[in-house]
Amino acid sequence: MNDSLAGMNFTDIRIIGIIGAGQMGSGIAQVAAQHGFRTLLTDVSADLCARARDKIGAVLGKQVAKGKLTEAAREETLGRIEPTVGDALAAADFVIEAATENVELKLSILRAADARMKTEAILASNTSSISITRLAGAVSRPGQVIGMHFMNPVPLMKLVEIVRAIQTSPETYETTRALAAAFGKTVITSKDQPAFVVNRMLIPLLNEACFALQEGLASAEDIDQGARLGLNHPMGPLELADFVGLDTVLAIAEVLQRDFGDDKYRPPVLLRNLVAAGWYGKKTGRGFYVYDEKGEKQKASV
Ligand code: NAD
Repeated sequence: MNDSLAGMNFTDIRIIGIIGAGQMGSGIAQVAAQHGFRTLLTDVSADLCARARDKIGAVLGKQVAKGKLTEAAREETLGRIEPTVGDALAAADFVIEAATENVELKLSILRAADARMKTEAILASNTSSISITRLAGAVSRPGQVIGMHFMNPVPLMKLVEIVRAIQTSPETYETTRALAAAFGKTVITSKDQPAFVVNRMLIPLLNEACFALQEGLASAEDIDQGARLGLNHPMGPLELADFVGLDTVLAIAEVLQRDFGDDKYRPPVLLRNLVAAGWYGKKTGRGFYVYDEKGEKQKASV
């Protein structure tokens, strides 16, 4: 055990390691690279990471086309992102885990990363709901484990929610705050309770919208229109759930229900069925809505 180690100072951070090159990992890689950090992007295969970097290149290419970014800046950012495999994390000063929302998977990923990483490096998780205290308890550096919860899409959303496990050292917290600020983000701090602050509020809304659809209260379009025009939300709850990923929404609801022991968080059967069908939302082309190849919403799905 390594409790006595406080973790890196922010000024020593040069290299960011990212585990998981999905929508969140790619977004975090883009932001880290845009703010000057060398970024090691890992996933189950380097190939997947190379594709993720190509997608980031395409996103930045659109900004170049609109005159919002120079081609040189695009190339510089891409040049800082290295698609690689887990072993490379040995070089990282600060690792952010952004793999699938599953506690057993995250425990095994964090143990493997911990074994490779240098002793002073910090290990953060972008989990939406899972206990950071439990994750910290599984590795040799509990004081250097923290929740760093980015919002989707990472390049556009200003907030980072920082979650302190009971083991997290004050130094790890300060370094993580400083890193979030260096990424251009605004921080809120949460204690370590299921789903923290943002998803504690969001998931009951998404669940309730899904119950309303399941009961036939209104169509998906009308439920979403109700939230957009009646509550002034930029997106309706069902389209937002599709955007988050229904597998992730279900996983968070299950953590809330189980870890609080409170059935008010129970996920609707319709949500379970959509996930069982592999209809995870925008990322798979179908969820509450059907999407075309460009990711444009076409029509209600159920
Ligand atoms: P995603 O499905 O887009 O990506 C998950 C990635 O993890 C995939 O690329 C997958 O290949 C990878 N992965 C799976 N097993 C792995 C392993 N053993 N090693 C390395 N990589 C592995 O999901 P996402 O939306 O990017 O979510 C990732 C994490 O971020 C989850 O913990 C989620 O709760 C959290 N999060 C999601 C959102 C959101 O709106 N989607 C917002 C904030 C936080």
